[in-house]
Formats: sequence, structure tokens, C-alpha cells
Amino acid sequence: MIKVLLVEDNPHDALLMRRMLNGAAAGKCDMTLETCMADATRYLLDHTVDVVILDLGLPDASGLAAVRQMLAAAPLVPVVVLTGRNDDQLATQALRAGAQDFLVKGEIAAGMLLRALRYAIERKSLEEKLFLEQERGQVTLNSIGDAVVCTDNAGLVTFFNLTAEGLTGLTMAEAIGRPIDESLHLTDESGVAISLRPGARDAAPPLGAKFNASAMIRRANGQSVAVDYNGARILGRDGAGIGAVYVLRDMTAPRALAAKMAHLAQHDSLTGLPNRVLLTDRIRRAIAIAPRHARQPGVLFLDLDGFKHVNDSLGHLVGDQLLQSVASRLTACVRGSDTVSRLGGDEFVVLLAEMARPEDAATAAVRMLEAVGEPHLIDEHELHITTSIGISLYPDDGADAGTLIKNADTAMYQAKAQGRKNYRFFEPAMNFRAVERQAIEEGLRRAAERNELSLHFQPKVDLANRSVRSAEALIRWRHPVLGDMPPVKFISVAEDCGLIVPLGRWVLREACAQAKAWIDAGMALDTIAVNVSAMEFQNERFVDEVMETLAVTGLAPERLELELTESVLMKHTKLAAQTLSALRAAGVRLAIDDFGTGYSSLSYLTRFPVDTLKIDQSFIRQISATQPETAIISAVLGIARSLRLRVVAEGVETASELEFLERFGCDEAQGFYFSEPLPAAAFAAWVARHERQDTKHYVSQK
Ligand code: C2E
Ligand code: MG
Ligand code: MG
Repeated sequence: MIKVLLVEDNPHDALLMRRMLNGAAAGKCDMTLETCMADATRYLLDHTVDVVILDLGLPDASGLAAVRQMLAAAPLVPVVVLTGRNDDQLATQALRAGAQDFLVKGEIAAGMLLRALRYAIERKSLEEKLFLEQERGQVTLNSIGDAVVCTDNAGLVTFFNLTAEGLTGLTMAEAIGRPIDESLHLTDESGVAISLRPGARDAAPPLGAKFNASAMIRRANGQSVAVDYNGARILGRDGAGIGAVYVLRDMTAPRALAAKMAHLAQHDSLTGLPNRVLLTDRIRRAIAIAPRHARQPGVLFLDLDGFKHVNDSLGHLVGDQLLQSVASRLTACVRGSDTVSRLGGDEFVVLLAEMARPEDAATAAVRMLEAVGEPHLIDEHELHITTSIGISLYPDDGADAGTLIKNADTAMYQAKAQGRKNYRFFEPAMNFRAVERQAIEEGLRRAAERNELSLHFQPKVDLANRSVRSAEALIRWRHPVLGDMPPVKFISVAEDCGLIVPLGRWVLREACAQAKAWIDAGMALDTIAVNVSAMEFQNERFVDEVMETLAVTGLAPERLELELTESVLMKHTKLAAQTLSALRAAGVRLAIDDFGTGYSSLSYLTRFPVDTLKIDQSFIRQISATQPETAIISAVLGIARSLRLRVVAEGVETASELEFLERFGCDEAQGFYFSEPLPAAAFAAWVARHERQDTKHYVSQK
């Protein structure tokens, strides 16, 4: 049932219409009649109708104005107008204004009327659907974050969404109707223009949903924006192209993010320097081009000296700033083709990519030592720091990045060990040394149980009367493969791996037992001296163990003298003082060994209860040398005397050294001039011979 509203003031025409509808469309239509626009409008306010038949000669509205009024009153209802016979023009205008159809009065056939009404309703509903569809499309396209641009087949822009306006800087009005290449100025990375005009060579829009092309787009203001874009053709029913759609995505932020991520993955966040990943890559590249350019890349491994101390005492913030300062100093030392990197902590690695000669690496190292050594002003602190540098060269010291870095690292350790603020070139022997250390450690673990250890004893001669009343016990190790191993080689390894504690225990026990045996056998031995290393001394149980050993061996505490180096005492001053006091209280004698090689500070001597000062042999060697150095020894002897310390000279080798020491009041001397360290039996024999001999004359056994 079609609800029809007929708006007709002519009763005759109205009756005619009703008859027609009642006839042909009986039961299919339900017609209401209104005779003026005002009544019709009022009726439409609270009734729904399917179609309006509108006479264009109403008393209160006529012609085109009537069409417009009706469309305004019922925008969703199809309107069919009634015109006079010669009103073709008005009929056409009415259709343009929005009427669905027109019927010419007097020419209306009953069957045709119903069909006209049905078509009008149908068409209006399709129009509505289309309108909604379009609206939805527009709103959608304006809501998405990608720019969408449509063209017709000639490449003229037919649609331009809001994002496209933002991206290009053009308004939709400016863009529409223009050739697409004038609206979207696309170029590839090298600046070559990309045409999107359908039919242009290379311009066939790629199909598919993925963004598969990157480009730069120039905005109206001249600025360039990175985009990814994609296009698809719009095909007609016959399969021929009728236009294209382009979608463009602003890639500024994603590309910046990608670049940032790539940077982060290859750089150290604190200093901004390349990290190991990028460094390795740069070394690889330098190696690859080295032969062609007749270049010899070099790797410098730097480690700051005492950086931990700065961190511990001034805090991490200051430490971090110091690292940044070092980073910029190092960067200033090298050329653009070189790479300064930070591996973490206080370790930096510099790649000198284009060296012509190995000497260049040394020059660069010296420059870096000085640059880093200049004071760093941080948070009002004037910080002084030094660095140690190891150098490895391609290809001699390694054919790949990993080996070059590792060997430069090894050389750096050597530089550090030699005294800081130093550089060293890598030598193959350094690797050998690392392997050797390993062998020593393994061998040392089993040395005691395999009876490979022994003690030698070196006499200490009293210069007042040339009598021998004491001896120093020195450890000896005969390695089954490596042979006689000097203590300087294995003591530090033993300290590093902790084996020094059981080793020291063994030495103390052996030395005390031997001394006790000699005394019991009638030897006039006042003291036996035993060396104690830092780690043993710091052991909490150290004092107890010494006392236990004395008790077990039966040696009186006054007969034992422990030799400690200056550095041992300086490391844990408070603990050292306590330990020394406890030992002293028990009667054990204490000596400072290698005096003058450590901190060379006499002030602490007054703080520790020591009995003896052993002047290092490096000082004794200077006696025969120039005058100013001997002045140092005489001064040390003077100070020791004023502190009431017994002074022992180590490593006395010549009669002139002995003479000098005697003249300046040295108490005791020890050295090859008298005797080398000897096995126990040989030592006893030597002492017996010495007692009998004319004590004024010795022949150096060296
Ligand atoms: P040190 O305690 O200063 O021992 C003196 C070193 O000088 C000994 O070397 C001795 O053989 C050597 N020497 C003695 N007279 C002369 C001389 O006239 N000329 C020269 N050139 N050298 C002389 P050694 O036995 O090789 O010991 C080296 C170092 O190893 C010792 O220096 C000591 O620090 C350490 N050491 C030795 N035995 C032990 C031990 O049982 N325990 C600990 N912790 N360290 C030990
Ligand atoms: Mg010693
Ligand atoms: Mg010494």
C-alpha cells in the first residue's frame, strides 16, 4: 500500500487523479488530498507518506518555488510534479531542483501513474542510499591518518582528504581538478621526480594494501616530508581503468624512531660514542680496505687508572661526567676517519683506521695520554686521571677485530703493570705469558703435595761485628716441566688466585720448624725472617695462625721476624695497625721490606710498630753510581736511625756498597756479596764456616 499525498487545488484534477488511482491501482494506493501548500506542510508534520504528487499552480505556492518548499518540508519523500501541457521548461527545472519525475496534466494514463509513483519512490531511496554511502566514505577518509588522493583516468584529482591537505599544504579546493603531479610533488631519495599520473611511464600504481614505496614529498611551503605510498587503479565494469586511489603515509616519526633505534644499538648512551658493535664493524671495514690503501689499521685499548676511586669517593654522577670529559678529549685527539669507542666502564678503544706507520700509533697514544692527563673540571672538582694504553696493529697482532681488541687489551695490562700513564705495543710473548700464568696456577695447586717446594735461607750479616745472627727464608719451587720457578713469577699468580694463603702457611711452618731445629742443634740464630704477602696479612685469622705455628713448632715469638712491604701496610691502614699491634704484643718482630719502592712516605712509619727497615736493592745499586742518589740513602739511614729502627740493606753485591753502608751506619746487610740464598743444609754449613773464618774477607759467590 503506497501512501500518496496529492496537493492539488483544482477539484476537477483532484477527482481525476483519485479515479485513476482507484481504478488501475485499486487497493494498492491510499491517497490523501490537500489543496494548498500550507495544509500539505502541516499534514506532513505528523504523517508519513511514500510519495507526494504536487501541482505547481497552488494558491499559496507555484512553479519552482513550490517544488523547493515541498522538498524542504519533506526532504526524504519523493516528489512527482504535475505540469501543464506546454510547461517542458518548468518540468526540467523541477527535476533539477530535486523532483523525481513529472506528469503532464491531461496526458496521464492510469497504468503509467502507478508505475511513475513506484519509480519515484525507488529512485529516491537509491539516491538516499548513495548519499549515505558517500557521506560515510567521506567521513571515513577524512578520519584516517593517511593521506588519500583519488584521480580520474586523466590523472586529475577528484578527491583529497583532510590528511592529504595537511601533508601537502594544499586545500581540497586547490587540489581538486588539478593534475595529480602538481598536487603531490614526489621524488625518490636522490631527488628524481616520481609521476603518479596514470599512464605515465613507471607510474603504474602498485596494487595491494602494503606500503611498498618510499619517497619524499615536497610541501607547498617547500619543506620535504618522508612518505611511504601505495596506489590502486579503479576499474570500470568493463575492466578499463577509470581512475586511481593513492594512499600516502607520513613517515617522519617512524623513520626518526628507526634512526634513533639504530643509533642506540650502536652507541654508548653515556658518551654517545660508538659501542663495541659499531667499533667491530669499523675495524672490519678498515681491515677490508687496508691493503688497497697501503694502510695499517691500529687498535688502542685505553683503561683509566684509578677510575674506581673517583667513582667511590665522589659518586657516580661525577664519575659519569669524567667519562664524558675523557670521551671528548679522546675524540679531539683523532681524525675523522678514526673511531673512538667506549666498551663500558672506564674502557675506551680507539681505531686508527688510516695509519701509514706503527710510529703513528705511538704518537697518537702519547697525545691521548697527555689529553686525558690534563685536569678535568667537573662540578668544581679539579680531577686528575691518567690512562694506560695497549696497542695492537693489523695484520701482525691479529687478522680480525676480536683478536686485535683482545691483544690491545693484553698490552694495556702490561702498560698498567709497568706503571701507569704508559703505552705498550702488543708482543706475542704477552699471550705466552697469559698461558704461562695458567700453567703456573695449575702447577702451584699441587706443588706442596708433590714436594716441589723448598726453602732457601740467606744470611743477614750484622755489620757491627760481622756475625750472622739471622736469616731470611725464601721460597723455591721446582716445577716438573718448567723447571726452577723464581718467586717473582709465581708469588703474584698465587696472590691473584688465592693460593698464597696455604702457600704462606707452608712457608711459615717450614721456616719456624727449621729455625727451631737449628737453635736446638746449637746454632746462634736470633731471628728467622719470613715474607708475608698482602693477602695473607689481610686474612682475619693471620695473627692466630702465626701464634699457632709458633706454638706447634716451639719457636719463641721473638725469634720470628715477619717482612711486609710498604704497600701491604698502606692498603688497609687501620686493619694493618691492629694486626701489627697484636703481633708486636705477642713478641713477634716486624720488618718493612723493599723500603723505598712503594709509597716512599716516611710519615706512616711512626704509626706502625715496626722494628726493622729493609732498604730495597734498587737503592743499594745506586751507591756506586752518582753522588745525588747516594744522598737519598744516607738521608733514609739518618731518618731510620732517628726513628730507632734497625736498618737492613738488601742485595749487597760489592765491597764498595758494603763500605758505604758501614760508613753511614747501616745495621745489617744481606746479599750475594756474602751469600746467595742456600738450601737448609748448605746454609748451616755456610754459617759454621763463617764462624771459623776471618770475617773481614768474603768472595762474592755470584
Ligand atoms: P725479598 O723479600 O726482597 O727477597 C730478596 C730477594 O733478593 C730474593 O729474591 C733474593 O734471592 C734476592 N737477593 C738477595 N741478595 C741479592 C743480591 O745481592 N743481588 C740480587 N740481585 N738479588 C739478591 P727471591 O728469592 O727471588 O725472592 C724474590 C721475592 O719474592 C722476595 O723479595 C719476596 O718478596 C718474594 N718471596 C720470596 N719468598 C717468599 C715467601 O715465602 N713468601 C712470600 N710471600 N714472598 C716471598
Ligand atoms: Mg724479604
Ligand atoms: Mg726485599
